[in-house]
Amino acid sequence: MTQTFSKILIANRGEIAARVIRTAHRMGIATVAVYSDADAQALHVALADEAVHIGPSPASESYLMVERIIDAARATGAQAIHPGYGFLSENPDFVDAVEAAGLTFIGPSSGAIRAMGLKDAAKDLMARAGVPIVPGYQGESQDPDFLAAEAQRIGYPVLIKARAGGGGKGMRKVDAPQEFAEALESARREGQASFGDPHVLIEKYVTAPRHIEVQVFGDNHGQVVHLFERDCSLQRRHQKVIEEAPAPGMTDAVRRVMTEAAVKAAEAIDYSGAGTIEFIADGSGPLREDGFWFMEMNTRLQVEHPVTEAVTGVDLVEWQIRVAAGLRLPLAQDQLAITGHAFEARLYAEDPVNGFLPATGTLEHLSFSDAARNDTGVRSGDAISPFYDPMIAKIISHAPDRESARRALLRALRETHVVGTATNAEFLAALADHPGFAGGTFDTGLIGRDLESLIAETPPSDVHVAIAALAALGVDPGTPRLGWRLWGDAVHDLTFVIDGAPFSCRLALQSGGHVCLYREGAEALALTGLSINEATVHARTGSTNEKIEATVRTARRDTGLLISVLTGGIARTLLLPDARAGSAALVDASDSVVAPMTGVIVALDVVVGDQVQEGSRLGVMEAMKMETALVSPRIGTVSEVLCAAGDAVEGGAILVNLEAEAS
Ligand code: ADP
Ligand code: ADP
Ligand code: MG
Repeated sequence: MTQTFSKILIANRGEIAARVIRTAHRMGIATVAVYSDADAQALHVALADEAVHIGPSPASESYLMVERIIDAARATGAQAIHPGYGFLSENPDFVDAVEAAGLTFIGPSSGAIRAMGLKDAAKDLMARAGVPIVPGYQGESQDPDFLAAEAQRIGYPVLIKARAGGGGKGMRKVDAPQEFAEALESARREGQASFGDPHVLIEKYVTAPRHIEVQVFGDNHGQVVHLFERDCSLQRRHQKVIEEAPAPGMTDAVRRVMTEAAVKAAEAIDYSGAGTIEFIADGSGPLREDGFWFMEMNTRLQVEHPVTEAVTGVDLVEWQIRVAAGLRLPLAQDQLAITGHAFEARLYAEDPVNGFLPATGTLEHLSFSDAARNDTGVRSGDAISPFYDPMIAKIISHAPDRESARRALLRALRETHVVGTATNAEFLAALADHPGFAGGTFDTGLIGRDLESLIAETPPSDVHVAIAALAALGVDPGTPRLGWRLWGDAVHDLTFVIDGAPFSCRLALQSGGHVCLYREGAEALALTGLSINEATVHARTGSTNEKIEATVRTARRDTGLLISVLTGGIARTLLLPDARAGSAALVDASDSVVAPMTGVIVALDVVVGDQVQEGSRLGVMEAMKMETALVSPRIGTVSEVLCAAGDAVEGGAILVNLEAEAS
């Protein structure tokens, strides 16, 4: 048999739904998308042959509605359901319901998912199968005193993990016994809120840890192969940021032992489909054959699967579909090899400078570089809504060697232009340019150690400002207007708002297509040979004759015109305030703590009259399933507390006021 399916339904959204649809179409398979209210106009809906509305925007009322998704498959005649990742992908009850409806689940059996679903049971199972596991306590007792004693026995530092956890949530590192009780409470709270299960396990915290995982693939004929490893050690708060394949410093000997352990793990549960065995490795020295331990298995396609596709040439989604249809694995182990090196960076709508707060809003403009593969679920004009994961795209580079692939990633990140929401693009580029990362010697603590320099934002350069000023004036040297005079300077004074502060400059339009930017306390910047072609500006600097290329995008806001200039690999956004709204755009938040987004206050640490330091924790709020500390902007005295623990608050609401500063 070589037939697969004629029509499949994708029970997901965003980039992964779009990615699955593309492979299905290439295989000649028709596709059905499902969508919520918020996604009626989404890319995955536009790409699919048919689309079925399954409910309101919250995932709990749409993408997690088992019955509605199965009804949609039945109504459209789809024979199989691809779950993507997240949502229902690791829900064994969903698999059972799909099969009970006479449909095929494109993924492992419900039994395999159940066996690996809880980290504690999975570790016991793996230990019995002879796979090395991280030492710790993964038993039934949840008594705080007992767990504290176990932590003592294991030896600090330890890691508390929600057994049902995923995506780095419900996890707390504890360095010393006196921090244990609070960390336990917080991990249990997050486990309950995010996964409906407060049960935790405790692990020895591996020092200088590296996260190395093995892609495995099984079919329904008893074959299991591996597709080598991925290194996912660049993490922030236990969440992957940049992944790569192969792992730096991997030797043939360690790879053999690690991939054998992974295949053994998959065979122990008769695994079918794509899966990932995650190991934590001791990164304090070179990788060792006895220096890695099983953490968990993810019984689905992983977000970072494209790096494996890049180095093996295999389309993993195609394999998933073929295996689910009962076909044999297309390649045997000895037909698989690694070619070159690949990286993936996760581009998010989030604000690194502001504690990586998830950002929402309309992507007024979104464009990518040709230097890399871009997997995205959004287009220019689409919104990043508060309902789902704020990932914008995955940027994947591939080259014959690691350094070339790294440079391609860096270029691709620097040429990514997003206007409308904050993104982590510049942070990712700084990371791709970090010497430790470039040298391939890093562990999961790299980002945490160097966070400050990685999120440092350079202010807009004079080139950014000059080009924004040209855009503000609507100047086009090709069609002279707006005082572009042949006989002399036309001088324009402009005041922008940059990061909430006013910024004044003067732009002189001189004869012959030259412009000159003046601002207080700096040398004038002359630009010559200006040419503007739609959104792209070319020029040379007058002093050094350096070539300049920039792209400019604008977006209307209530407060004025947003002008975003990308040049020299750095995008900077300036606001040209409307005359009326001008002063409103200048915010002075130094006397208040404002809710960074809509959410719930889970803890409040201060009362009126308390003395606080700059950076003191005033409370904790939970928003988008993440806990965020509310911190004081300065030293001072609390004059008003306008919320209580348990309150639901709107983004932007004032929560705490400080006494006005004596000036
Ligand atoms: P891990 O579970 O080991 O962290 P991943 O990084 O692949 O593996 O995924 C993190 C978790 O968050 C997974 O449960 C995944 O399904 C979910 N997830 C990640 N990105 C998204 C997204 N864009 N949409 C929905 N769920 C996501
Ligand atoms: P999740 O389901 O959230 O992906 P994991 O158990 O895979 O949870 O752990 C997530 C990350 O936390 C790992 O990639 C690793 O960086 C870190 N981590 C997990 N266990 C340990 C450990 N025992 N020691 C050090 N770091 C760990
Ligand atoms: Mg994991």
